[in-house]
Amino acid sequence: MPVECAVKNGWEQFFEFAQEQCSSAEFANWIAPIRLIEAGDVEVVLEVPNVFVQEYLLENFRNMLAEFLPLKATGEVAIRFQIAAAEEVEETSGNEESLPQPSEVKPDLNPFYIFDHFIEGPSNQFIKSAAIGVAARPGKAYNPLFIHGGVGLGKTHLLHSIGHYVLENHRHLKVQSITTEGFINDIVDHLKAKSVDRMKRFYRSLDLLLVDDIQFLQNRLNFEEEFCNTFETLLNQGKQIVITSDKPPNQLRLSERMVARMEWGLVAHMGTPDLETRVAIIKHKSELRGLDMPSQVAFFIAEHIYNNVRQIEGAINRLSAHTRIERCPLTEQIVERILNEMLKSPIAHQKVSVEIILKSVAAVFEVKISELKGESRHKQIATARQVAMYLSKEMIDESLMKLASSFGGKTHSTLLHAWKKISDQVQINETLRYQVQMVRRNLTTL
Ligand code: ADP
Ligand code: MG
Repeated sequence: MPVECAVKNGWEQFFEFAQEQCSSAEFANWIAPIRLIEAGDVEVVLEVPNVFVQEYLLENFRNMLAEFLPLKATGEVAIRFQIAAAEEVEETSGNEESLPQPSEVKPDLNPFYIFDHFIEGPSNQFIKSAAIGVAARPGKAYNPLFIHGGVGLGKTHLLHSIGHYVLENHRHLKVQSITTEGFINDIVDHLKAKSVDRMKRFYRSLDLLLVDDIQFLQNRLNFEEEFCNTFETLLNQGKQIVITSDKPPNQLRLSERMVARMEWGLVAHMGTPDLETRVAIIKHKSELRGLDMPSQVAFFIAEHIYNNVRQIEGAINRLSAHTRIERCPLTEQIVERILNEMLKSPIAHQKVSVEIILKSVAAVFEVKISELKGESRHKQIATARQVAMYLSKEMIDESLMKLASSFGGKTHSTLLHAWKKISDQVQINETLRYQVQMVRRNLTTL
C-alpha cells in the first residue's frame, strides 16, 4: 500500500537520521533495538525492549519524530509502543562486571550530616524527633517518612542523619541512599549492562532506602513505575523508606498510586527556622569552623538571612575566610560589607523596622498602611495585618508590647495571636507562604 510504504519510509528515514545524530554506542543501545511492527497512516507501532528505550526515544527525539511520522489531532506524534516479550537474559553476559557489585555499594552520606549537628527549634523539632524515631526503629515507627520543605532547610541533612544512625546502631541492616537522578542513572547503566534484574534484587533487598529529592521523578513516567514497584516491595516487607521533596506528595505531578504510597506513613513539613534557631545554627557552625562569632554578629546575620540555612552557611564560610586572611576579629561593619556583597541588596543602610515591614506588606497585599494600623476586619486587610505582625515578631528583636504598639496601639496578645496563626498557616497554605516570602524579599529593596 503506497501510504503505508510512505509511512514506513518515515521510520526508516528517522532511523537513518538518528544514526547520524547519535554516537554509535548511543545508537546501538537505544535506537537499534527498536523494531517497526506496523506502519499505519494514522499510527505507527513500535516494539521496544523495555519502557526505558521508549522514554529515551520520546525524550530525546520527540520533535524529530514529529517530522517523520504521523501526528495525532493534538499534534503529538502517533506512536503506539509494545514491549517485547522478556528474553531470558544471561545475567553474567555483557559488561556488567564494570558495574559495582551491590555489596560494594556504600551509601553515599555526607559525614557532617548527623543528628548532633542538626539544631532544632519550633520549625523542625517534630520532624527531627520523627527522624530519630525512624532511625531507632526502622520500619516500625513511620513508614515511609516523607519530609518536604523549601531549599536549604536541612532535608538532606536529616535524611543522611538517619542513614548514619542506622549504620552505627543497626550494623546488620543494609542501607542505601540515593538521589532520584542517581536511581534513574542506575537503571540506565544496568539496562546497558543487561543486569536490571540484579539491580532490582539489590534495591529490593535493602532494609533502609533513603531517597533525596523525589520531585525530580515528575515527568519521568517510566522510571516512576520502577520506583513505585521498588517502594511497594520494600514497604510490604516492612523495610524503611525515607523520602525528601520540595513539595508535599499531593502537589507532585506523580501517579495516584505513587502519591498514595508516599502518603501512607508520615508526611512532615520542614519549616523555616525562626530567629533564635538561626542564631543557634550560626553559633554551632561557627564553632565547628573555629570561628569566634560574637553574639550580636550572629544575630545580625540571622536577621538578614532568614529563609535558607545553606545561605547562612555560605555567609559563615566567607566570614571565616575573611578572618583567616585579614587576621582581624569580626565586627558588624565587616559582616555588613560581606553580607552586602553576598546578597547584593542594600541591607547595610537599614535595620528592619515595623515601618519597613508595613510598607512591604502593603505593597504585596495591595492595602494601605493606614489600613494595616487600623481596625478593619476585611479579610484581605486582616490577613495582611497579621502577616506584618508575624514578620515583626520574627525579624525584630523588640518586646511584643513595643511591636504591638506600632500597629496603632494593639495589645501584645493580639500580636502573639497573629504570629501563631500565620506560623500555622504558612505550613499549609502555599499562597500565603509565597506572599510572606515576597514581603521578606521586598524588605531589602524598599
Ligand atoms: P535541603 O536538602 O533542605 O535543601 P540541606 O540538608 O542540604 O537542605 O541543608 C543545607 C545546609 O544547611 C546544610 O549544610 C545543613 O547542614 C544546614 N542546615 C539546615 N538546617 C539545619 C539545622 N537545623 N541545623 C544545622 N544545620 C542545618
Ligand atoms: Mg537536599
